[in-house]
Amino acid sequence: MTGKVSLVGGGPGPVDLLTMRAHRLLAEADVIVADRLGPGPEAIAELGWCAEVIDVGKHPGHHPVPQERITSLLIEHARAGRSVVRLKGGDPFVFGRGGEELTACLAAGIEVEVVPGVSSAIAVPQAAGIPVTHRGTAGTVHIVHGQGPLSTATLAALGDSTVTTIVLMGVAGLERLVADALAHGTPASRPVAIVEDGYTDRQRTTRASLGGIVAAARETGVRSPAVIVIGEVARAGLLLPARPSEPVDAVRVDALA
Ligand code: SAH
Repeated sequence: MTGKVSLVGGGPGPVDLLTMRAHRLLAEADVIVADRLGPGPEAIAELGWCAEVIDVGKHPGHHPVPQERITSLLIEHARAGRSVVRLKGGDPFVFGRGGEELTACLAAGIEVEVVPGVSSAIAVPQAAGIPVTHRGTAGTVHIVHGQGPLSTATLAALGDSTVTTIVLMGVAGLERLVADALAHGTPASRPVAIVEDGYTDRQRTTRASLGGIVAAARETGVRSPAVIVIGEVARAGLLLPARPSEPVDAVRVDALA
């Protein structure tokens, strides 16, 4: 009998941010194919599930297991009659290549289900006290990846003070992104926050204005994974108390208290 594949959103890291459906499928799985982001192999092992865990974690600029190999692993194990969980960071359909894995499984005649997860696009800013929307401040959210040139839609979003732009996978391309945005007229005063390593004990937020964020990121040594938030919601002190008379241009770094 053929098994099945579940494409499961693992959330931003902690196992208690998995959904109950994800927990159930993980507990029932024969094979778990895990990513670099989201709950990693150690977290899975600690929960005592007895599935075989295959780590296909990708590191920036270094892809140990190519996407085609991941897809064929899912299909091979399901064809051997196993219940396979493809555990992905965040939500499977937010820059997670979940759509490709879904269509590959369907084309191979494998039963497949998708389980949503808490996306880092929203949860990681929240972990740093940043709401992606806030009444009277931002009513629209634009989520993009930071690879390649800015689209017309992104330039429009950046130019609108009521839009929050969330950039995933944006650390390597930060300088180009900022130069492009400024060249197209985004005010240099637009607040930016970069939240690294959300939900870990290394979580850190670097804040500056758009005009100052490249220097700030260099100064603090910002590294991937990080979520970049551009917009008025990223202003220091919007929800949590700001330091007295702190200019938005100040490089402000908050470790997770
Ligand atoms: N499907 C995922 C996103 C995959 S793209 C989701 O919905 O969350 C990978 C990017 O997500 C990273 O480059 C980074 O921008 C972001 N990311 C994921 N987890 C993160 C975390 N714990 N802290 C900071 N950024 C994270």
